[in-house]
Amino acid sequence: MRDGLQSIGSIMPTGAKKDWIAAEAAAGVPEIEVGSFVPARLLPQLADTAELVAFARTLPGLHVAALVPNLKGARAAIESGVDKMSLPFSVSETHSLANLNRTHAQMFNEVAAIVAAVNDTPADARPRFEVGLSTAFGCTLEGAIDEDDVVRIAEKVVRLGADEVGLSDTTGYGNPAQVRRLTSRIHAALGRERLTGIHLHNTRGQGLANVMAALEAGLTTIDSSLGGIGGCPFAPGASGNIVTEDLVFLLESMGLHTGIDIDRLLAVREQVQAALPGESLYGFLPNAGVPKGFTYARARRGHAVT
Ligand code: ZN
Repeated sequence: MRDGLQSIGSIMPTGAKKDWIAAEAAAGVPEIEVGSFVPARLLPQLADTAELVAFARTLPGLHVAALVPNLKGARAAIESGVDKMSLPFSVSETHSLANLNRTHAQMFNEVAAIVAAVNDTPADARPRFEVGLSTAFGCTLEGAIDEDDVVRIAEKVVRLGADEVGLSDTTGYGNPAQVRRLTSRIHAALGRERLTGIHLHNTRGQGLANVMAALEAGLTTIDSSLGGIGGCPFAPGASGNIVTEDLVFLLESMGLHTGIDIDRLLAVREQVQAALPGESLYGFLPNAGVPKGFTYARARRGHAVT
């Protein structure tokens, strides 16, 4: 929700967001990033994040995540009772200055301060703290990003106490060879448990190919957005994040159990489209439909492709 809703002009009413969260959780989506703890004047689309976290926490089994831009946001996220918070850390320092108005040195201080805030929280109320390595696959301002820098920043934030890092293809520049290489380099440097997730955009149509590389490299949390909401202002017709409906179909058709019901997911899509009139939704499965004879991974146990 977070990445999609922050990138569009429409402001979805809080009630419609709650209905979306509840319907997606009921369809079996295991984790939802419901918002971002940023000042409402910067992102009015996400001004109700604390209320959404409180609501999402009432849904059994749902893992509730939120983005935090800084220590202040992290304190609000901890207070809200979120399960996981992610701080975007741009590997491109130019992007870091443009996006968060912070140098790398300032970002490392922010990471350390957030770790201290987490450690000041009673153990049973501590969220998991992830640092998302934004622009890890390339930057619209700097262009190519040195992979050594990605690994160096990953090592440093984990040394400062972050629970894990995530790889973020913020710009949709990534390719599967890069995904494979960066994942294995970070796993080798820090251990597999320090990198489990990836955030992909489909700006140049490489999203699902990148998912395949991520799966083969051992990543297990793949970010996507319903209907690929968000789009890309620089690439008309391109979705924003990879499309949840297409991702679930890819995984289930390969025999990888997601626990997500595709028909229910497609019903959520209708519901969200109705709440966001005029906004574009993307994806192939929703248009083409589920193929004749399709069976879920769970129904075909023993035939899973690994
Ligand atoms: Zn994104």
